[in-house]
Amino acid sequence: MRWILLCCLCLSLPALADLDYALKPRLIADDTWLLEGSTDNFNKTNGGNIVNTAFIVTEAGVVVIDTGPSRRYGEALRQAIAGVTAKPVIQVLLTHHHPDHALGNQAFKTVPIGALADTTRLLHEQGDGMAENLYRLVGDWMRGTEVVLPTQVLEPGVLSVGSHDLRLLAFTGHTGADLAILDSKTGVLFAGDLVFYQRALTTPNSPGLAAWLADIERLQALPWTLLVPGHGPVAGDARPLEQMRDYLTWLDQLLRDGAAQGSEMAELIRSPIPERFAAISLNRYELIRSVSHLYPRYEREQLQRVDTPAPLLRN
Ligand SMILES: [Zn+2]
Repeated sequence: MRWILLCCLCLSLPALADLDYALKPRLIADDTWLLEGSTDNFNKTNGGNIVNTAFIVTEAGVVVIDTGPSRRYGEALRQAIAGVTAKPVIQVLLTHHHPDHALGNQAFKTVPIGALADTTRLLHEQGDGMAENLYRLVGDWMRGTEVVLPTQVLEPGVLSVGSHDLRLLAFTGHTGADLAILDSKTGVLFAGDLVFYQRALTTPNSPGLAAWLADIERLQALPWTLLVPGHGPVAGDARPLEQMRDYLTWLDQLLRDGAAQGSEMAELIRSPIPERFAAISLNRYELIRSVSHLYPRYEREQLQRVDTPAPLLRN
């Protein structure tokens, strides 16, 4: 029995050693490095590296934006940073509480981890459940990963680090607590998951598509020159925002029309996806999820309670 266990252990060791995120930071603007994840879903091959993280090397030290999906990713990110600069990491900023953005926090325990107050609340409430889900989806990559809550409350305003004035902006459309960061020095806008580009957006915590559309307008009006989405490629123009606006408007109308016609969820998830969204990764998968997250609200709006006061009759 014991030798069987030993054999199993030996067989699994090389597999664990192979779990290398191979993070390759790419310089996208002065002092600004991006680690671009895939636009796939979580799986055992990518280890959950489906997310964009970034760091800014300032004179005062390094600012990290999002920590990735696992402890292993967070540690790999620290190594990747050390390969670029000898400066210490002095600040982490979390864009929101979702697991692919925040479960690398463990590797940054010695550094202030800043987030909006509601991001910390949501991570406290949902973090363990989300981590559990990722353990199932990506397997060994997650070993040893635990939720580490932010240690610093961020308020909207300017955070100056070295010569970089970082504008911290609070939004709500993706999770109810979404931080975007505009580096006034470089013009880089880190939009977090307010912006998905060429990858279908996710809605498990969205307060509603109207709020998200309003956020897109605000983002577009900011003086940025380079846009870093939470998922998908960076852009020097507004195409990601235009795609978001187009997709959100279509999805909102689809759900509204469905509710007006009394459609069942099972019909809606099979709705044709317009040709212009055909190249967006995971479009069907996320449509199914979005319908399940959002459609009950549209149905409620459509079906008024019978005891709602009727308008007064005129003589
Ligand atoms: Zn997210």
